[in-house]
Amino acid sequence: MKKLVFATNNKHKLAEVRAILKDTYQILSLEDINCHEDIPETADNLEDNARQKAHYIYEHYHVDCFADDSGLEVKVLGGAPGVYSARFAALEGTGKAHDSKANTNRLLRELKDKSDRSAQFRTIICLYLNGQEILFEGIVKGKINQQEQGSAGFGYDPVFIPSGYNKTFAELGEDIKNTISHRALATKKLVNYLKSQLC
Ligand code: IMP
Repeated sequence: MKKLVFATNNKHKLAEVRAILKDTYQILSLEDINCHEDIPETADNLEDNARQKAHYIYEHYHVDCFADDSGLEVKVLGGAPGVYSARFAALEGTGKAHDSKANTNRLLRELKDKSDRSAQFRTIICLYLNGQEILFEGIVKGKINQQEQGSAGFGYDPVFIPSGYNKTFAELGEDIKNTISHRALATKKLVNYLKSQLC
């Protein structure tokens, strides 16, 4: 079976992709290839960050691979926090990186009194396969709620209401989120492409 490295150690992301590709590609994690260093993620947009991570693995480990990067883009904030979603509060000194509560607090504060609360989650996956680079994009549109609701998920899930629903991702839960999310849509595109390469 063809091997493909997913530049992540996130168990949920690995399980999701492995389950879909189970009989076609063997998906290896960073741990599986003994990559324990911090992979640089210094770009100012999702595309280049995903590229940077995939390129790093390809250069250092000489294997076919893919990497992803995601963020929340809020219209009245000019697309912020975007690529800085995990560090939104840290950037203004009100929390540490990956502090979901602090990030959400900053977001709700910045949107206070704003009537246009439209936003989207966006994922970019960069694939390096047989010497070729391909990008896949997944977007889920929605809006930012006035306050946090629900307990499932992570990050900004308690404040994001996807279009067509009146509950946040954190209220809708994993099953629904995993069929409509930005990550699920980008992953679907990646998987369709990978499967088409086997024919
Ligand atoms: P990553 O690229 O998947 O690690 O996502 C970067 C950051 O974007 C996360 O730390 C979260 O703050 C935010 N984010 C990305 N995807 C989601 C999601 O599905 N729900 C909530 N927050 C997310």
